[in-house]
Amino acid sequence: MTAIADLLRIGTRAATHSSGPRFFHFVVGGATPAAQAADWVTSLLDQASGLWLTSPFATRAETVVLRWLKELFGLPATYGGVLTPSATFANLTGLACARFWWAERHGVDVTADGLAGLPRMPVFSSGYVHPSSRKALQLLGLGRDAVRTFTRDDAGRLDVAALDDALAGSGPAVLIGNAGEVNGGDYDPLDELADLAERHGAWLHVDGAFGLFAALSPRTAGLVRGVERADSVAADGHKWLNVPYESGVAFVRDRSFLGRAFGGWNAPYLPEPDDEFVNYNNLGPESSRRARALPIWATLRAYGREGHRAMVERHQDLALRLGRRIAEAPDLELLAPITVFIVCFRYRPPGVPEADLDALNRRLGEELVEDGRVYAGTTVYRGMVALRPAIVNWRTTEEDVDLLASVVREIGARLVTTA
Ligand SMILES: *Cc1c(COP(=O)(O)O)cnc(C)c1O
Repeated sequence: MTAIADLLRIGTRAATHSSGPRFFHFVVGGATPAAQAADWVTSLLDQASGLWLTSPFATRAETVVLRWLKELFGLPATYGGVLTPSATFANLTGLACARFWWAERHGVDVTADGLAGLPRMPVFSSGYVHPSSRKALQLLGLGRDAVRTFTRDDAGRLDVAALDDALAGSGPAVLIGNAGEVNGGDYDPLDELADLAERHGAWLHVDGAFGLFAALSPRTAGLVRGVERADSVAADGHKWLNVPYESGVAFVRDRSFLGRAFGGWNAPYLPEPDDEFVNYNNLGPESSRRARALPIWATLRAYGREGHRAMVERHQDLALRLGRRIAEAPDLELLAPITVFIVCFRYRPPGVPEADLDALNRRLGEELVEDGRVYAGTTVYRGMVALRPAIVNWRTTEEDVDLLASVVREIGARLVTTA
């Protein structure tokens, strides 16, 4: 008990309060009460959730949760799926299936024989491709620099015509569509990517780590139209679903690819769509794994599709409110249109030369963290140092986003007068 008392005493003070309502840096979700409590239950029950035999309960829960998530995202019920620790692992899962598919097109069983003798797999994307997709490619032996990007502006927006040309001469290729880019919040045109994939016989993988949840609201569902035609899809539970770490999910249109890419040599087991006796450790990168389904089950059960839709809409409302605060302020400049919950802007007081703005905003980012009333930080967007708060926590209120704007202006003004 002393160890636990020590851990609580030290931990509650030392921990970053990143699941709190004023943590806006990166895309870090909170934890709904139901998900938080279910996560404790997950540890309490300590289920070995890789095999049906070790936990029929966890296996059933995972199958149910995958079905619910497909309904939530508008993905066909026939898609296969598996829960993963994160979207990085979900990208790895989807791209491993893509790799299997691609090698098969070249007459090779990559699971058995590896990549030796094969050419380099062509991977195409926009400039929005997330580092975790590159990391997945590097883990898969394809190389993180395998991705060729086709862009038509300095934000990285997809050049559809250039991609079309490249596909015409590439042979079987893998496209990565990005449903939500972390700096500006923009989305790739998934419908157009799905058209290209169909026309050229390519595999379309969609990284929807946070952005896939736009499907929950009619206000934003248009942003992900076309995802239901993707070959593989990745998303996170620990971002916009507000489930505690770690929580991710991968979906694959042809479910047999999961078993073929991940099944062990002694377990060539291919589950049928409604097969109860699934061994999820044959469908993803992990073997032993926790009952990751339970917190997802609990939050969806407690708040339902409506509750989560309301949260998605509230976050967009809050982001738009912050956008209005920025528009009203003579010293703030919005840098990208607001799509869902990311607000990309910078401090730009009149009279400060353009050449000094990057250093000023970088300093401001450091001071914000030091100050601690709100937690936000900088990125580089279109070559400019910018703040890009993400409003993705169920507890965040209007006061919190107003405070963010006023603290940025207060600290910014102090930096300018003391410069
Ligand atoms: C966060 C994120 C990832 C990686 O997700 P993790 O859960 O951190 O592994 C991938 N893609 C996008 C667009 C993201 O925002």
